[in-house]
Amino acid sequence: MDFDVAVIGAGPMGSYAADMISKKGWRVALIEEHRKIGVPVQCAGLVTPRVFELVDKKLTVVNRIRGAEIYSPSGRELLIDGKETKAVVLDRAAFDREIAKDALFHGASSFLGSTALKAERRKDGIELSVQTPDRLVKVNCKILIGADGIRSNVAKWFGLPRAESIVKGFEAELVEVDCNPRFAKIFVGNDVAPGFFSWIIPSGETTRVGLCVEKGSAYNYFNKMFQSGESSRFLKNSRTISFVAGAIPFGLLRRTVADNVMIVGDAACQAKASTGGGVYTGLVASKLCADTALLALEADDFSERFLKRYHRNWKKAIGKELKRGLFAHKIYSDLTDKQLEELFDLLDNEKILNLISEKGDMTFPSNIGKHLLKKEPRFLKYVTPAIKALFR
Ligand SMILES: Cc1cc2nc3c(=O)[nH]c(=O)nc-3n(C[C@H](O)[C@H](O)[C@H](O)COP(=O)(O)OP(=O)(O)OC[C@H]3O[C@@H](n4cnc5c(N)ncnc54)[C@H](O)[C@@H]3O)c2cc1C
Repeated sequence: MDFDVAVIGAGPMGSYAADMISKKGWRVALIEEHRKIGVPVQCAGLVTPRVFELVDKKLTVVNRIRGAEIYSPSGRELLIDGKETKAVVLDRAAFDREIAKDALFHGASSFLGSTALKAERRKDGIELSVQTPDRLVKVNCKILIGADGIRSNVAKWFGLPRAESIVKGFEAELVEVDCNPRFAKIFVGNDVAPGFFSWIIPSGETTRVGLCVEKGSAYNYFNKMFQSGESSRFLKNSRTISFVAGAIPFGLLRRTVADNVMIVGDAACQAKASTGGGVYTGLVASKLCADTALLALEADDFSERFLKRYHRNWKKAIGKELKRGLFAHKIYSDLTDKQLEELFDLLDNEKILNLISEKGDMTFPSNIGKHLLKKEPRFLKYVTPAIKALFR
């Protein structure tokens, strides 16, 4: 079977790229190992409304969030009230399905329940071996887009670099959680979620409860959320409907293209290490990936040299935020509980909280760092050791 472009992975990034390329009349294969797009969901689904500037899928919103209640290791609470919608919670399965539907509507061919097993370079492109539900097929393409997530085989097959670090996650969908529907709850601490944080996110009829950790078992820390600590008091009467494990890869990859090949989304480590958010940044990169694919098809040039414009463009668009996120993550994950409490002391100040409410932006969280340092130079105490570590 011959295609201009084959996309492996019908997550949001793969389907979005497939949609933009098929819309222009090129032959696109969208290959997804699961039989149903969007499941299992490995995401809390919290994004800023900015996502809809790229994909207009507002109908998949299940809740609107205006602020956060953040809990220190000892249980102190900081309330950040944005006073208006600052983030939305998506039905991630529906979101993924809707983007994929657009791609199919525009002519992409779907291979569901089909696993790409290997890729071989041929003189006129790439040949993929794909195990469909009933037979092994060969899919030939000029461009292969690896939107195949954290375990990207495309990156492996073509020698592209892998993540610098990952956080492991565990999340459940619950009912009867005691929480304010307009506020997400965030819990930090080395006994709560080492190196990251845990969350309770009201999601319409259900509530998403989960965490990511840098070390240790995400599942064990997840269970702990119900047994002890601040989170347990909100979860006393809750019932679990479903749960899922996942992971988020971080890094700023030096190469995301090879001859005939581009990788995007989690496959290219395009999630922010500061918050774990990968949907918006991945979609931005996916658009740039599709733009480059379209130019390459017009020019009939699929060399790494030509495709490198995708790498340059996504770095220009989101590279600074990813880099700052990695830096912030490094500072944060080295903090002891005592230092986290000290940080809460600095944050627990009306002027600072107002500043965060006003300037805080989940899409570009690093911007608030600049404002905080300007307003309260004592925050420098946390930044300086990380800068020194960078030059060690
Ligand atoms: C616990 C958790 C919570 C998160 N919460 C948020 C959040 O609130 N907000 C946010 O913005 N981000 C969040 N993220 C990150 C976000 O989910 C990811 O960044 C995003 O899903 C990446 O999308 P993707 O399309 O790159 O990859 P994926 O969504 O992982 O899609 C990759 C697809 O490729 C398919 N695939 C892989 N290999 C093959 C193969 N060989 N053949 C065929 N198909 C294949 C897979 O089945 C999968 O469907 C969270 C992540 C985790 C783990």
